Amino acid sequence: MSANRPLHLVIAGSCLLVPSALAGGGGGSGHSPAAPQHAAPMSAHRPGPAPTTPTAPSADQALQNLRVGNTRFFSNARTAPNVTPQRIRETAEKGQNPFVTILSCADSRVPLEHIFDAGIGDLFVVRVAGNVADTDEVGTIEYGVGHLHTPLLVVMGHTACGAVKAVAEGAEVHGSIPGLVDNIIPAVEFVKRNRPELTGHDLINAAVEANVWQSIDDVISGSEEVRGLLTKGSLKIVGAVYDIATGKVRFMGEHPYQERILSLATFEKPGAEERAMHVPPPRQAEEMIGNAPAHAEAHDDDHGAAPARTPAPAPAHAPAPAPAGNPKPHH
Ligand SMILES: [Zn+2]
Repeated sequence: MSANRPLHLVIAGSCLLVPSALAGGGGGSGHSPAAPQHAAPMSAHRPGPAPTTPTAPSADQALQNLRVGNTRFFSNARTAPNVTPQRIRETAEKGQNPFVTILSCADSRVPLEHIFDAGIGDLFVVRVAGNVADTDEVGTIEYGVGHLHTPLLVVMGHTACGAVKAVAEGAEVHGSIPGLVDNIIPAVEFVKRNRPELTGHDLINAAVEANVWQSIDDVISGSEEVRGLLTKGSLKIVGAVYDIATGKVRFMGEHPYQERILSLATFEKPGAEERAMHVPPPRQAEEMIGNAPAHAEAHDDDHGAAPARTPAPAPAHAPAPAPAGNPKPHH
């Protein structure tokens, strides 16, 4: 991850992990969890043919799959689909054809196949502390959306995230962790600067949401392939937050400033100052921690709702000040 940071520009821009040629591209080629498998197995060296599209869902259908699966999960009505020996054999022989790519946290309380009541071959999952999007994560995402053609990418944080908490509290970290958490710093600093009244759990959960937007920004800014898919309409990226206390996922829709990020993105990731400008102010923190009526709703609508929940973006000519402390290095 961050140990490879100096290589980011080279790797992200040249699509070393995945073939850049995407035949067609309309709507992706995922399928419902129960559909047969036709994709080539994952191999960075011999990618094989692109998956065929027998029952390709749209991004919205893929999102609905997740909503329905999560409802079963938090309602204690899981069906545990697609985990039979037959499914194992089918996916081994015919390859994977997941209907969604998900970037989420490594936290043991956030097991995605359980949360979305999905099975083998359904979810293309990237899990890393703090759901950051650094070199390796972006490369893996490119495999999911570019080669496996999932029409949807979900970036999902979770309440009480330890990685976000460590940054928010200025915890002393060692080993390779500083290079990991530096991805989270711009979001935390943004929240501290714009919501100085927040403390404790409120601060953490507001930063969790801002960090989701930050990671989406990093994926878009760091991947020419992702930008191409978004521009073609072949990919939709939505943010989400999982509540570890209720089991419910709150989908937040597309990044409110997605078009702006796309228009500004180049092969170089923006520096910390510019990145912080892309982080939309978080919703009221109380909505995220279970004591507000809005939280009782399992899934917020994700169709164009996010921009309405956030104040208007800061003028482009009035950038926010650089985060204090240890800003993410410019690339
Ligand atoms: Zn976490």
